[in-house]
Amino acid sequence: MKRILLVHPPVSKPSESPAGLARLAGALKAGGAQFRVIDANMEGLRFLLDDCTEPTDTWTRRACRRINENLAVLQRRETYRNRGRYIQAVTEINRVLAHRSGPYRSNVSLNNFTHDELSPVKSRDLLRAAQTPQDNVFYPYFRSRLAEVLGEYAPDVVGFSLTFLSQALTTMAMVGFLKEQAPEVRIVLGGGLVTSWIRGPAWRNPFSGLVDDLVAGPGENALLTLAGLGGAGGHFLPDYEPFRDYPYLSPRPVLPYSASSGCYWGKCSFCPEQAEANPYLGLPAERAVHDMEELARAEPSGLIHVCDNAMSPSLLKVMAQGGPRIPWYGFARISPALADPGFCSDLKSSGCVMLKLGIESGDQRVLDELGKGIQLHESAQVLKIVKSSGIATYVYLLFGTPPEDEAAAKKTLEFIGQNRDYVDFLNLSIFNLPKGSPDAAGLDTYDFSQGDLSLYQGFVHPRGWDRRRVRRFLDKEFKRDDAIARIVRRDPPSFTSNHAPFFTSGVW
Ligand code: SF4
Repeated sequence: MKRILLVHPPVSKPSESPAGLARLAGALKAGGAQFRVIDANMEGLRFLLDDCTEPTDTWTRRACRRINENLAVLQRRETYRNRGRYIQAVTEINRVLAHRSGPYRSNVSLNNFTHDELSPVKSRDLLRAAQTPQDNVFYPYFRSRLAEVLGEYAPDVVGFSLTFLSQALTTMAMVGFLKEQAPEVRIVLGGGLVTSWIRGPAWRNPFSGLVDDLVAGPGENALLTLAGLGGAGGHFLPDYEPFRDYPYLSPRPVLPYSASSGCYWGKCSFCPEQAEANPYLGLPAERAVHDMEELARAEPSGLIHVCDNAMSPSLLKVMAQGGPRIPWYGFARISPALADPGFCSDLKSSGCVMLKLGIESGDQRVLDELGKGIQLHESAQVLKIVKSSGIATYVYLLFGTPPEDEAAAKKTLEFIGQNRDYVDFLNLSIFNLPKGSPDAAGLDTYDFSQGDLSLYQGFVHPRGWDRRRVRRFLDKEFKRDDAIARIVRRDPPSFTSNHAPFFTSGVW
């Protein structure tokens, strides 16, 4: 049997165990595989934070002095009743990360990693990161950590879970280091970002010779096969055991859980899920709820983070009939069921503390042209009923889509203004056109970056409502509205929706 090592590379939000790795660990455990797991994100960030030397300015010196206190503060319940203290802790931690990463021409924060010269959407730069691992800010950490695990465990296969762009350069630096130190080890890349690359319209593998296997979609079967256990199929409960001792920055353990991949709706023209034609694979709702009940039994003080792109109506229905009865939150589509006070009250009793809702626009024409499949009057009703049932609302808006113009954006402002009492948190995004999306066919498009791995492309807005005008509208008009500004300010910096539930009363 092959020995497997799974790695979650930096940088992503260090608030909870990595969902992808917990799923893979569950599959390997159930299959009886020999494996180890490293959350290199949590370890790497701690490595940077624990060694804060020679700051020259007063602010950074103070941030370094208080680093342990600030990390502890984010793990305390009381902090989430004191927004000022929370913001101070996040800002000071980010200050230390910026101080530590600056000399490497990088900027690391609690939710991002950028490099002054290298781009994660250019394969040339990713290959350069692999050729020069010593230039990466996390090198002093992963050099000794990987050397240690190569020495004492000697894995046959190392799998990297690459979900976010902010992980890509460091993933490749770690891959390059491993290739140098242990060329016989088989290297596998999987995760959300890898899936998007492979399913993109012009994919060609730039990593051959460096990466042995690239896996699109759920990686459980591929990994079981590599472990020498055959693609056993079936369903596996995520395993959080390997992550139990990591000091995640949350006031209670967060248990990420996916009942599906893809999206049961799958018709929104702006959505990468559609552009990538990701198939919808969902567990039977009863099975998913049973899983969550088991997780709740094992971790009664936990918060379940349902990671589905959109919880299916059947899953919500079975949740409402009982559910895990520990706090949970997730993404749901606007639907008639959520406009029913009895149903929402049952969801609340099941443990639901927050729903993430994609309202996108306050203009029905825009919603229709985007294929969103929701009615504005129903969205208003859902916000009101969900909020009145004691469930917090985290609303997503999308500006600058092809059918939107300034008048439509103003209707969104008006809609949120009218419903401000029912919106707890707001996430504002500017539209990116996914390569290969159905919208791209009818638009005048161009490449806005030279990144061969970029998932998006530029386009000439058919109504002249380009990114510059959208940004100006958001800054000068939308966020200037007092009520809206108050909601926007509530969004937790760096951690956003991952920490938002802790600011709601329902979770405690
Ligand atoms: S509901 Fe959400 S995940 Fe599903 S297609 Fe629309 S935007 Fe994408």
